[in-house]
Amino acid sequence: MVIPGKPQNVAVIGAGILGASIAWRLAQRGIRVTLIDKGQPGHGASSHSFAWINAGAKQPIGYHNLNRRSLEMWRRFAAGIGDDGDLDSVGLRWGGKVSWESDPVAAEALVARVRQLQSWGYPTRLVDADELERLEPALEIGPVAAAEYSPNEGQVEPQMVVDACLRRLREIGCEVIAGAEVHGFEQDDDGRVRGLAIASGSRDVDAVVVAAGTETTRLAALAGVNVPQAESPGVVIRTDPLQPLLSNVPVVYAPPLGDGRREIHLRQCADGRLMIGEGDQESLAEDDSQDHADDLLTRACHYLPGLAGARAVPVPVGWRPMPLDGYPVMGFASEAPNLYVALTHSGVTLAPALSQLAAQEICDGMPADAVLGPYRPQRFAGLTPDEVAAATHPRATRLR
Ligand SMILES: Cc1cc2nc3c(=O)[nH]c(=O)nc-3n(C[C@H](O)[C@H](O)[C@H](O)COP(=O)(O)OP(=O)(O)OC[C@H]3O[C@@H](n4cnc5c(N)ncnc54)[C@H](O)[C@@H]3O)c2cc1C
Repeated sequence: MVIPGKPQNVAVIGAGILGASIAWRLAQRGIRVTLIDKGQPGHGASSHSFAWINAGAKQPIGYHNLNRRSLEMWRRFAAGIGDDGDLDSVGLRWGGKVSWESDPVAAEALVARVRQLQSWGYPTRLVDADELERLEPALEIGPVAAAEYSPNEGQVEPQMVVDACLRRLREIGCEVIAGAEVHGFEQDDDGRVRGLAIASGSRDVDAVVVAAGTETTRLAALAGVNVPQAESPGVVIRTDPLQPLLSNVPVVYAPPLGDGRREIHLRQCADGRLMIGEGDQESLAEDDSQDHADDLLTRACHYLPGLAGARAVPVPVGWRPMPLDGYPVMGFASEAPNLYVALTHSGVTLAPALSQLAAQEICDGMPADAVLGPYRPQRFAGLTPDEVAAATHPRATRLR
């Protein structure tokens, strides 16, 4: 579903990492872009993100490949938006990820996953305890039943990415409107969006991108478009700023400490604060208390003794934008043919690729079906309640 001719005047609703990236890509293509956010740009899910850039945790292979394509685009994307091409100005840091298991059953799963990724040509490999210690001497690893190193993975700072996109947009004269909620669409008889209703009045548009994160479902519904989501709360706490602790490998997944506990993951931000979460990238968590933050810090300290004396800073629950089946929703809607939906989990990893693909589809009118075909909004049309239940991501506690 494409619009004929290149639109001149496009509004992007939502200035998280995905919307800001799409706005920048569109502006690069000569489009007059207006980027609108109801709050502060970057303060949605993007501000809660662990922001690990990876493809190793993604399946099946088609989705893994999309993430991998994006991972490999990050350096050039960051150079494009960064101040004078400086990767540090968006907090991009490579060096890989290590993970290990002390439990034999969990170790078997880790080895099987590494073997699968290797069969997909992904540069991950098994390492022994000695190599793990050499890779990241700051870690106190304890017993190791199996360990893995993925050297191509990294991290970035979503707020710095959003801020950089906004700077570039403003430099070329695009409008960024913060604190303005879009609360409706003016549509013609064919469903095409002609204008947006925002607090300060209406704005005419040739096309609109809805990149409103968890709010995408509610907003798209106002234009008659069904984009179902699952609720997916997550908690990643922070410490106060510390001197650099991890010298080589920025992203660490360490095994559970005791039965019934989950693994923890940690990384150090550009400002020196450590981020600590538990479980995997999609684990549900709603405890944002000081006690829980203290507990996470204690567990992290076990593996990273340099954390001793740090202060745990709780962070409120973050809600992941989570399409019903867990996969991206990208493309023009049938019900509103010039409304482009951009909703995804793993949006930090995926921002470079999805923004490039969205801008290309919007500007060139040629669907990138070979890549985005499985991720169209149309896949949710006319689902019965049973089909919705069957399609629902296994981690979804309830529908949004
Ligand atoms: C705890 C947690 C950990 C994560 N870890 C990772 C990770 O390690 N790696 C990874 O790749 N991804 C991770 N993610 C996912 C990733 O952070 C998200 O996919 C990404 O941030 C989504 O960006 P977005 O721009 O789509 O949404 P958001 O950042 O939520 O931005 C949406 C914006 O839309 C605005 N908006 C909403 N409604 C309206 C309206 N009506 N009018 C105007 N504006 C509106 C909001 O104010 C908001 O700023 C994690 C997410 C969470 C919560």
